[in-house]
Order: sequence, then structure tokens, then C-alpha cells
Amino acid sequence: MRKTKYIFITGGVSSSLGKGITASSLGKLLQARGFKVSLQKLDPYVNVNSGMLNPYEQGECFVTEDGYEADLDLGHYERFLDSPTNRNSNVTTGRIYQTVIQKERKGDYLGKTVQVVPHITEEIKRCVKQAGSPDCDFVITEVGGTVGDIESHPFVESIRQLKWELPDECLCIHLTYVPYLAASKELKTKPMQHSVKVLLESGIQPDILILRTEHKLPKELKRKVALFCNVMESSVIEALDLPTSYEAPIRLHEEGLDSAVLKRFGIEASHEPDLTAWSAFLQRMKRATEVVRIGLVGKYVESPEAYRSIVEALVHAATYHDCRLELSLYQADQMEEGNVARKLEELDAVLVAPGFGQRGENGKIVAAKYARLRNLPFLGIGLGMQCAVVEFARDVVGFFEAESKEMNPQTEYPIFDLMVEEKSNLGTDGTMRLGAYDCQLKEGSLAHRMYGVDLVRERHRHRYEFNNKYKADFEKAGMVFSGINPQSGLVEMVELPHLKWFVGTQFHPEFKSTVLHPHPLFMGFIEAALKNRQEKK
Ligand code: GLN
Repeated sequence: MRKTKYIFITGGVSSSLGKGITASSLGKLLQARGFKVSLQKLDPYVNVNSGMLNPYEQGECFVTEDGYEADLDLGHYERFLDSPTNRNSNVTTGRIYQTVIQKERKGDYLGKTVQVVPHITEEIKRCVKQAGSPDCDFVITEVGGTVGDIESHPFVESIRQLKWELPDECLCIHLTYVPYLAASKELKTKPMQHSVKVLLESGIQPDILILRTEHKLPKELKRKVALFCNVMESSVIEALDLPTSYEAPIRLHEEGLDSAVLKRFGIEASHEPDLTAWSAFLQRMKRATEVVRIGLVGKYVESPEAYRSIVEALVHAATYHDCRLELSLYQADQMEEGNVARKLEELDAVLVAPGFGQRGENGKIVAAKYARLRNLPFLGIGLGMQCAVVEFARDVVGFFEAESKEMNPQTEYPIFDLMVEEKSNLGTDGTMRLGAYDCQLKEGSLAHRMYGVDLVRERHRHRYEFNNKYKADFEKAGMVFSGINPQSGLVEMVELPHLKWFVGTQFHPEFKSTVLHPHPLFMGFIEAALKNRQEKK
């Protein structure tokens, strides 16, 4: 068997240049050439994982099958590669230090002075290698932030060491930016040259340069960059802004990225990347003319990345229905009885987002009520589902004081509560239910029809659960509990069968939607939205 190759992707000049999409695209290309690829993100922040991070800061918290609260780039990895990531796919400075400090406390270092070099860097290298086990051809490791940041140093130093220890197995791709000065009509390479210098000062010669740009790069410019930065001209790759990030693998292949990687490792590829299914998806996306109008009600809508997986899952499903997603975002805390109709009446369907805390809860309840009374297709996820159930409790079941204990710990009708007993049976620590759990679908339900199977596994990230002591009251009032965890009896899905399409999920289906496999619930939701649109015409 061939030895695992390690590809590092660093960033320069600016953040938000699309390292995640670049890593995913390269992963896709190598996978499409028949290689086994694993993607990984190293995050320089001191948080141990993304669990406590406010979505305004780093965007959504992505959840892996094994229940790790991860950086949102892992969502790109899964959507592009169509294969699940896990807790080894994302490592932060905080986690590295936590491991090293735990070892130090156990006495594992036998009295040695514990230092950044070698102890922290050894732990980083161990994590990188672990991402490639058992038998990956390539590990692509993306390093968050930009080179030169104080907190990136140990990561960059670890790359230097790995390149020195395994010269034939490691490669560094530096993604950087070439600004265009409108006044002088010129592309400027000086900032990127400086960022390469910073890498060189750390002892790393990049092998491939990817230049993000808003304008096409002339051949002479690429030649100049190659000369100044010690790379082959064929390894200077242009990355133009694209209408959709899903085009990136195709463009980067045309630019020769995957060939440059294979050439550097001296690997003969048996075939060109097979991107048939991927290209078919892009074609559908481009050809779609019909529009589907979806409203998303959430607490963090000003932050474009806070609902990234939900938006992508909607895009996947819309594309497979040959239509274009027109998404309107609504700030939950500005939604009220008095303005809800004005905001939502033009929509084909509404999605109420997951979330934590009280702010915006009422707006979510108002939106769910509007959807129920107007028979507007509705998907509630996490807190979105909980709000729909609370609303139903107050308005239909007759529990006027119904509430989730998260919002009012003193409520007399705790429709959602901490179900510590069931949770301990599930083997969690009783605070948060995280990761994939089984969900048994009820015969004859909408959920069962959409999934087309009896049992599914979906990913969770929440503390509160539907309180099963009220189940019978809700069933009597017309709510169907269409998805149940078979081990604990916890409610995973609800629906209102007398309406066109009204579904709530305690789990997060958005994390499992990929370009090649759109999620059945999102497919059903968009189909219902389109049908609703037709009926209105
Ligand atoms: N805040 C709610 C809970 O902890 C819902 C979380 C979510 O939307 N996933 O139960």
C-alpha cells in the first residue's frame, strides 16, 4: 500500500478566502480520481470545540455523526465528498492544550518541562496523522486563520516539522489574495508575495499557490509570481470568484490543481476525475428558471454563515426539483402577530430555525402559528420544532401556559424538559444530546413516506426533549409523533397530518444533505412548497 500523503492548506493576506471550499474541492477531485481522501480542519482558537461559540463569531456549529461540535467547514467537507467526518476531522488549539495538560497531570511526561516545541507540536502532528488512519491516500489539512497570526504559529511549525520529517509525503498549498485596484486598473501581487515571505520565515516553502481574484490573471502575472515565490508556473493556480462554490472543483481542475498535486508527489493517476454526477448537478442548477420562495425565521439571520447547512440543504433540494431557491431571512425577534402576515404571505413555505435562549422565541411561535393556520408548508428544526409544538399546545391542546423549561424553568406545563433519566440510558452526560441517534418512523406518516424506510439516523444537538407525559393530549388534538427514538422513547419528529406539509424535527436533517444526496425531508419540503405555489397561481 502507498504511504499516506499530507496536504496542508494555509491562508495569507486575508481570512474568508475560501480555504474550506478549496480543501473540499481538492478533496473532491482526488476522490473523483479514485483516491481515498480525508479532510481535516485545524482551528487556532483556544476554545476546545465550537460548542460554546456564538454563531455570530464563527457561523454555525456543525455536528458530526459521533457528536463532535465542529467548525462549519466540516459541513463543506461532507457536502462535497459525500462521506461523514468525525471528531478527528477538527482540532482546535484548546483541544491540543487540553490533551497535553491532561497528560502532564497524569505524569506522562516524566518530569520533563512541557513546552510548545516539542510537546504541543507533537500533539498537533499526532492529530494530523490520526486523520489519515487507517488507510487514506491523502489527508488534506486546512489551517484556520492566516499565516503570521500569533495563534497559528504552533500549527505552522508543526507543518514545517512534518515537511522536514516526511519530505516526500507532505505538500503545502498557500491560498492567498490578489487585489484589483480599480483606480489604476491593476492587479497587485505584493500582499501575496509578503504572505509567502511570512511562510518562508517560518521555514515553509509553499509548493502550490492558489490566488483568489476578482479578475482573470494574465499569464505574465502568474509567471512573475512563480519566479518571486519559487514555485513552478504550473503550480500557480487562479481562483476566480464563482457564482456558486459548487463550481470550484471544476474550475480548479481546469486550472490544473489536482494535476499539480499528483505531479509533486510523483503519482500517476489512472484516470481523470470522474465528475459526471457533480457536473449534472451544476447543469441543473444553471438551467433552473422556476423559483421557489422560502422564508427562514431565525435568531441569527444577520450572520450569513449561521444557517449555512440549512441554506445548502435547501439549495440541494431546490436544484433537484429544477428550481432556484429564493430565500428570505427574517429576524425572529422582530416577528409579531401584527406583522407576520405581511412578512410571510408571499412565501411558498416557511422554515423555523434551530436555536438556543429566549430571544426570538415568540417570533418563532408566531411564525409557526401563521403556517399552521394558513396551511403554509412548514419545517421546524430543533427549537423551531419546539416552538411549533408549544404553539400547538397553547392554541389547540388548551395548555395556555405551555412552555419549554429552557424559557421558563417554573412553567406548570413543561412541554419540553430535561429528560435526565432517558438521557442517561442513552449514555450521554445528561446536558446535551449530541450526534446521531436512531429514529423509528411511524407507518403511514408523512415522514415514513418521505424517507421511504422504517429506521433512520439523524444528528442532534439540544438539551430539552418533548415531555412524554403530555403525548396522549397532543395525539388527541391531532398531532402525530411520527419519529421516535426506539431505545429511549424520546420524540424525534412531529407532524400535523390534516395540513399540506407540517413537520418538526428535534434533530438537524440539514447536516446530512449533500450535493449528490439531497436530504429526503428537504426534498419533501421543497416539493410541498412548489405544489403550494402552483395552487396559489
Ligand atoms: N434550545 C433547544 C434545546 O436545547 C433547541 C436546540 C436546537 O435548536 N437544536 O433543546
